[in-house]
Amino acid sequence: MSAAVPTPDLDDLGREIILDHYRRPRNRTPLAAAEVEGEGVNPGCGDEVRVQASFADGRVAEIAAQGKGCSISQASASLLTEAVQGRRLAEAARTTRTFERLLTEDGTPPDADLGDLAALRGVAKFPLRVKCALLPWKVLGEILNQRDDKHPIIVSTE
Ligand code: ZN
Repeated sequence: MSAAVPTPDLDDLGREIILDHYRRPRNRTPLAAAEVEGEGVNPGCGDEVRVQASFADGRVAEIAAQGKGCSISQASASLLTEAVQGRRLAEAARTTRTFERLLTEDGTPPDADLGDLAALRGVAKFPLRVKCALLPWKVLGEILNQRDDKHPIIVSTE
């Protein structure tokens, strides 16, 4: 009988990361001079998220997120800011698509480099919570698409 190798419990690890970001959200301080910002609401859960960003040299120079709602939506917003801070715009867009695939499709390569974002992968099993997790990302997607358009952006999951 071979020695049992402990298998990391990804669900527990994920929960720990999610709660940490929910309790101590990163990059929450509003930007003094945001170039773009967007707001998202998820009426089914009551989540609200605002994402602000400024750009320089083709990169996300500064990003901040504020909001209220469930732990999944708020942790996802916090994780988002860490994931795209300083990234090239194309990278940020690619991360957004990869993360969406992680939560909505089975085809995501397990080696996709999502870092702590992978903590939210367990959410894919709960379609109602997927909306919570994707809310800040939908706002980010709109901001990246329309960053030359200074109109206020409002995103709703409904
Ligand atoms: Zn929610």
